[in-house]
Amino acid sequence: MSTTDTTDTTATIEPSTDGTDLAARTAPAAAKAVPTAAPAPVLLLVPGILGAVHGEAPFHPADPAAPQLLVTDLGVTRGEGVFETIGVFDGRPMALDAHLARLQRSADMEELPVLDRAVLAEAVAAAIDALGAVPEAMVRILVTAGPEHGTPGPERPTAWVHAKVAPDYGPEREGIRVTVLDRGLPTTAPATSPWLLAGAKSLSYAVNMASLREAARRGVDDVLYVSSDGYALEGPTSTLLVRLGDRYVTTPDHAGVLPGTSLGTVFEALRTEGVVCEETLLTPEQVVASDGAWLLSSARLAAPITHLDASELPVDHATSARLSAIIAGRSV
Ligand code: PLP
Repeated sequence: MSTTDTTDTTATIEPSTDGTDLAARTAPAAAKAVPTAAPAPVLLLVPGILGAVHGEAPFHPADPAAPQLLVTDLGVTRGEGVFETIGVFDGRPMALDAHLARLQRSADMEELPVLDRAVLAEAVAAAIDALGAVPEAMVRILVTAGPEHGTPGPERPTAWVHAKVAPDYGPEREGIRVTVLDRGLPTTAPATSPWLLAGAKSLSYAVNMASLREAARRGVDDVLYVSSDGYALEGPTSTLLVRLGDRYVTTPDHAGVLPGTSLGTVFEALRTEGVVCEETLLTPEQVVASDGAWLLSSARLAAPITHLDASELPVDHATSARLSAIIAGRSV
């Protein structure tokens, strides 16, 4: 997995309350002095997350290098909150409606209020605009449960949108080595134990990050989680796609995986061509015996699995490139 992100230089941003002319006001001073530097990240705070209040800007820029969060925010004290990472290709946020719908789905699972998706969509567009023209970027939307009850701060979720240039995923789009890790939950967990929040894109991602560190310790790039009843699930930040002859298969949502927006885009495109796409539980052995397998995600796109632990899988670079192009909304 690529862990290098060289884009975290910071812009000096004058906080504003009107949300206008963001691109001009967030232009990084450093970029003027060094024209070849990558654009600095852009941060927009979204106080209008539950709906724009008359006379108040629903979002406004803030300094991404300065502290912005109260120490009592439940996002940090309890890991309560939800997020989305949206891939932006040639300035276009991909599958934005699906990301916003999934954000609300995760929010519902954590009993957070109804979020204003129109405000969020506008903030995402403004952040992309302010970042400037780059081939590949990623925008994160983060929504926490807000400050702890009875502490200073507004009685509403804390929300922000952060845009930055994407890291170079080129090597992973060529192939990744993957290890199988036990997630410790059966595929029935969502039905029997919804409080475990299986399939929510929650801010409590420490387990997912620990899994990736375990992959690194094993000298590989990524992880395929397996359920305690023996089925292949998903990666810590990606969806499993498997080709079986001329069919494409993924893990059913009811097994406790996050419904992938990239997978949704791929299935929609393939079904238009008459290709059979199914949700079926597979064992890791069936994945190894398949005609190809990928981990899909919004910014990294389609990463073909070259090895699942010691077993080698067939890799079809043309199909990988095509799947990535579909997710990125680019012509193949
Ligand atoms: N599964 C998990 C657990 C994820 O965290 C992600 C994305 O981060 C995905 C799947 C892939 O989702 P998407 O294609 O919407 O990026």
